Amino acid sequence: MIYKDIIIIGGGASGMMCAIKAKEKNPEKSVLILEKQNKTGRKLLSTGNGRCNLSNIDADNTGNYHGSFKKNLKSFFKSCGMMKTLEQFSNLGLTVYSDSEGRYYPFSNHAGSVLELLRFRLKELKVEIICGCKANSIDKNDNSFIISSDKEKYSCKKLVLSTGSPASPKLGSDKSGISLLDKLGHKIIPLSPALCPLEVVDKSFMPSIKGVRQKGIVSLYDGDELIKTESGDIQFTENALSGICVFNLSSYVQNLKNPSVSLNLNYDKDNYGQLLYVLKLNIDRFKTREIKNILDGFYVNKLGVAILKSAGINKLNRPVSSLSKDEIDNICDTIFNWTFKIKKPSDYSKAQVCSGGVSGDEINPKTMESKVIKDLYICGEAVDINGDCGGFNLNFAFSSGIIAGENL
Ligand SMILES: Cc1cc2nc3c(=O)[nH]c(=O)nc-3n(C[C@H](O)[C@H](O)[C@H](O)COP(=O)(O)OP(=O)(O)OC[C@H]3O[C@@H](n4cnc5c(N)ncnc54)[C@H](O)[C@@H]3O)c2cc1C
Repeated sequence: MIYKDIIIIGGGASGMMCAIKAKEKNPEKSVLILEKQNKTGRKLLSTGNGRCNLSNIDADNTGNYHGSFKKNLKSFFKSCGMMKTLEQFSNLGLTVYSDSEGRYYPFSNHAGSVLELLRFRLKELKVEIICGCKANSIDKNDNSFIISSDKEKYSCKKLVLSTGSPASPKLGSDKSGISLLDKLGHKIIPLSPALCPLEVVDKSFMPSIKGVRQKGIVSLYDGDELIKTESGDIQFTENALSGICVFNLSSYVQNLKNPSVSLNLNYDKDNYGQLLYVLKLNIDRFKTREIKNILDGFYVNKLGVAILKSAGINKLNRPVSSLSKDEIDNICDTIFNWTFKIKKPSDYSKAQVCSGGVSGDEINPKTMESKVIKDLYICGEAVDINGDCGGFNLNFAFSSGIIAGENL
């Protein structure tokens, strides 16, 4: 059995940051990271399309987060707000910039820079790291934890679980950390994929518009009830709606009974009258053209054709002049309110994060210590909190790692 003062299970974003802060505070104590993959920070390298969107100018706004830990965020951000997290990166030697949408990236635009600086600091501080070492079980006696792993048995006085979520299993993620926390007696809010595409139930139009991107407004409904609206670039795939605006709705879907999304693809947002006017004008000007081309001035042809078909327009090679008033109204209605019934997300492979995790009721936001088990700390995505696209998830991972590390 190998004894260390502090053991951190999970060498990802939150675990590495936590180890740095723990060792800076307690240089005399031994700190060990156990990481099941053959390198630390594998997921970090894939973030932000390889650029690592590590925070956001709006990161302290609780409205950008979801899950049972959300009610603790005000107190959490008092302990470590966005400025303190960025200061920590500055202390590591990293220069960051924010883009026009307030997203922070390393100046190098390279996730590898963030990872390297975390690794340099861990090395300088002589934090021990054992890779290829999966924690399989944890036992707690009166004043120490015993961790059984693929390699050895370890014991420690203080333990951190920063094992992330099963989102994106190709990057080595799984549910093993969550099941360790479950077995330790924590309440686990069920996991489901989030920040992911939304698969549509009726896929008949999808293959024809696969690859198309179109600006629009996306509204998520449960039956007739509007849940949330987002706008931006909508991407159509073989079987799903995708894009950041769709991703940001995905974490709400799991709890809905009858989920659907409505797309408003009008170029002038809510101006139905203007759309009808321009459409009628075009019908008048281009009487002899075929109906399949009537929306070519608004959309790429294949999207226009899919909208026309969805509006119930038949025989698209008829002349435009043959469109009836009802058909013209149906086209406008579809452009404004193109409805897709959607499935609940179940595919972790396309998800950036998960909703669910350890209940927010069981973690002290000022320290990230478990309220169920003394001397156990939980940080990062293992906590039931997930943020919108734009750097909110890494911001939480790093901030929670800082708070836990400072309190060890
Ligand atoms: C493709 C992709 C792009 C993303 N882009 C962004 C972005 O730009 N901005 C943003 O804010 N967020 C982004 N995210 C989300 C972000 O990466 C995560 O929220 C963040 O990494 C969570 O940090 P963590 O420390 O909790 O978990 P992780 O970084 O996943 O680290 C957990 C670590 O624990 C290890 N581990 C798990 N179980 C065990 C065990 N039993 N024993 C030992 N080790 C174990 C894992 O191998 C892993 O290394 C992205 C996610 C993906 C998948």
